[in-house]
Amino acid sequence: MIYQRTLAKEVQVTGIGLHSGKKVKLKLYPAQANTGIVFRRVDIKDSIDQKADAISVGATDNNTTLGSGKDAIHTVEHLLAALYGLGIDNVYIEINGPEVPIMDGSGASFVFLLKETGVQHLNTTKKFMVITDTVRVEHDGKWAQIEPANNLIIDSTIVFAHPAIKTQRETFEFSCENFINKISRARTFGMLRDVDMLKRKGLVKGGSLDNAIVLDDFKVMNPEGLRFRDEFVRHKILDTIGDISLMGYEIAGKVTTYKSGHHLHNLLCRKILETQSAYEIVSAASLTAEVQEAHRLPNMISVTN
Ligand SMILES: [Zn+2]
Repeated sequence: MIYQRTLAKEVQVTGIGLHSGKKVKLKLYPAQANTGIVFRRVDIKDSIDQKADAISVGATDNNTTLGSGKDAIHTVEHLLAALYGLGIDNVYIEINGPEVPIMDGSGASFVFLLKETGVQHLNTTKKFMVITDTVRVEHDGKWAQIEPANNLIIDSTIVFAHPAIKTQRETFEFSCENFINKISRARTFGMLRDVDMLKRKGLVKGGSLDNAIVLDDFKVMNPEGLRFRDEFVRHKILDTIGDISLMGYEIAGKVTTYKSGHHLHNLLCRKILETQSAYEIVSAASLTAEVQEAHRLPNMISVTN
């Protein structure tokens, strides 16, 4: 049986926002079963709690933003991916700025933080969204679809006219262990020639070789090189996990993406949620033993029952 999870205790971390360049403090607190992931801005007066929810997504330019206006919280996707990867369903997240810190540009710092904090099992069964019919969205020659499968599978293709990226395709089958080892460490990336344009738009003010893979017209500029040969498409899978976790359930279905981004991921979530015949919400007890095993946390993470 798979139970809902939260953190064993509260924990905090400080870092800078990729787009704002501002220092932010993030505090995570344990939460009861069926709370979900709830963000709260503590730097502004009378801010409203913002549940991590696909229909609350505002802007999707270069990051996923929850809400809009003064309460907006930017760049939630890597933190959400890390929570999903460790099967943590319930947590309150306080943040004293407009953007989740970028850390090293991947989900690894959040996984480390959650691992050090430990996980608490709650006395309530996890719920899964089981996909029962294909749902597809397309935009500008890019597409994303979900179709029935026993476990969460993500088959992602990216295409860049850059000699260090070109076309990359990777398939990921969900398990907490696979997520930690194969996906969580893959960093975000950007082109040096886009940096000026993005800075003029007020974005990537905090960007550096410490929190992104940066490419000039020919090669990766980071002196340490890549963490995986196909780190770029692995990061796309990290983003996809964070974005589709906003449907609010663990997912059993195969997601296939071609040149997708945050906008398309959110369109897919919204279309799934609008298509009642495309999914069922079931208790974890009705899933196969293999899928239940995939959601077991590796031994290195301390779990309290
Ligand atoms: Zn990303």
